[in-house]
Amino acid sequence: MTTSTTATTAYAELAAAMRGDLIVPGDPGYDQARAVYNAMIDKHPGAIARCRDAADVITCVRFARSHGTEIAVRGGGHNAAGFGVWDDALVIDLSLLRSTTVSPQNHTVRVDAGATWGDVDHATVAFGMATPSGFIASTGVAGLTLGGGTGYLTRRFGLTIDNLLSADVVLADGSLVTASESSNSDLFWALRGGGGNFGIVTSFTFRCHDIGEAGTIIGGPVLYDLADTPEVMRWYRELLPSLPEELNGWIALLTIPPAPPFPETLWGRKACGIVWCYTGPHDRADKVLESVRSFGSPLVVGLQPMPFTVLQSVFDGLYPAGLQWYWRADFFNEISDAAIDVHVKYGAQLPTGHSTMHLYPIDGAASRVPADATAFAYRDGGYNGIIAGVDPDPANAGLISQWTKDYWEELHPTSAGGAYVNFLMDEGHDRVKASYRGNYDRLAQVKRRYDPDNMFHVNQNIQPGG
Ligand SMILES: Cc1cc2nc3c(=O)[nH]c(=O)nc-3n(C[C@H](O)[C@H](O)[C@H](O)COP(=O)(O)OP(=O)(O)OC[C@H]3O[C@@H](n4cnc5c(N)ncnc54)[C@H](O)[C@@H]3O)c2cc1C
Repeated sequence: MTTSTTATTAYAELAAAMRGDLIVPGDPGYDQARAVYNAMIDKHPGAIARCRDAADVITCVRFARSHGTEIAVRGGGHNAAGFGVWDDALVIDLSLLRSTTVSPQNHTVRVDAGATWGDVDHATVAFGMATPSGFIASTGVAGLTLGGGTGYLTRRFGLTIDNLLSADVVLADGSLVTASESSNSDLFWALRGGGGNFGIVTSFTFRCHDIGEAGTIIGGPVLYDLADTPEVMRWYRELLPSLPEELNGWIALLTIPPAPPFPETLWGRKACGIVWCYTGPHDRADKVLESVRSFGSPLVVGLQPMPFTVLQSVFDGLYPAGLQWYWRADFFNEISDAAIDVHVKYGAQLPTGHSTMHLYPIDGAASRVPADATAFAYRDGGYNGIIAGVDPDPANAGLISQWTKDYWEELHPTSAGGAYVNFLMDEGHDRVKASYRGNYDRLAQVKRRYDPDNMFHVNQNIQPGG
């Protein structure tokens, strides 16, 4: 039986068995419940199960198995390809499961799988701690973690997965297991980068680290005229390896937002920028940031002390849910001169105010983890690159998509070959394989063990292998 034929009566039985709500087409709130972060995604699921606890997740998985119903799994709903929702499928929606439990003594945080990074930062920074996440607070913990997780703390403390201690997972047969180094270690290996292919995680436990001074870091953007892009990129690529790992900076091409704190004279101007985050002791900050402050002729130097939560959420207002997004991505071993030429060309053609290009370093602690220690394979000390065409107006969907595709086509030859799975669109199996490099075959074996029927396939799919 396919999802589209999953009978109304069957769904009524599922609704009765759940603690949470089951929302079906025609119900009030259906359109709201099927909407995800990227407004370009317009899927119509057969039902959306708003789970209240792990038991609801188990109930949904068993239901889907016995009725042959296709499923999609939704954490924070941020996935660009829109894999958190799917036509005719049963969406197992975890977004109500957002509780966090911090252990300051053990330096850990346990997080339910529907939480956002804003929820986690709120909980941990109160204790002066954080676990590595991303660059925006509204992103879901689940999807980001399962793909790897690159953010402000990557150079110092590694990827998000390098700080994952354990995960509770509902498997395809409806059983719940814990995955860690000492329990189901093959599953734990695969979860760390292999996405949602192996089961539905209901909670994560992460290691936390003391950051800044009681959670106050020094961070913010330094912006340069777009014409300075070649000099800034060359300087950045030389400087980065020499910087202490307490200092992270990702480089971007962007349009200066038409809003404070940016001076009105700069609103709407195209720029090259680096967003810095220094998480070390403040009495060393001046020395560490000296080279950053003294380079070139910046238009804006926005470096200042702030709670880590503020830096983490600074882009949330600029990028609310409901914009049109089209993005393409690659890993890069270096920022080559050929790549800089492409960046200069397409930076000058940024099609809308929200459209942007980012390069996030994956070096320091992240690159000291062997490439086969987790499923995440690109740890050569390079960059996680993303080109994102973004705009509020659906009429501009074609424009932003074309700019992104053209930019990517010219830049791709300078890349390392694969891309961060969390930045892939629905680009086909070869791109997924390239993103896992030599780890793919082992992932396919773990997939066969835990999900031989490929029940969890609405994702960057790893097919069960031999
Ligand atoms: C504005 C923006 C900024 C971003 N910044 C960063 C960044 O700084 N660093 C970074 O690493 N990434 C970043 N990302 C990418 C982000 O990691 C991915 O979009 C990720 O998929 C989002 O996770 P989610 O839970 O919100 O997504 P969802 O759309 O809910 O899910 C994403 C995928 O994970 C699966 N999944 C979700 N929850 C579970 C679960 N509990 N168990 C099993 N599978 C599950 C889904 O089936 C789906 O395939 C960003 C994305 C956006 C839109």
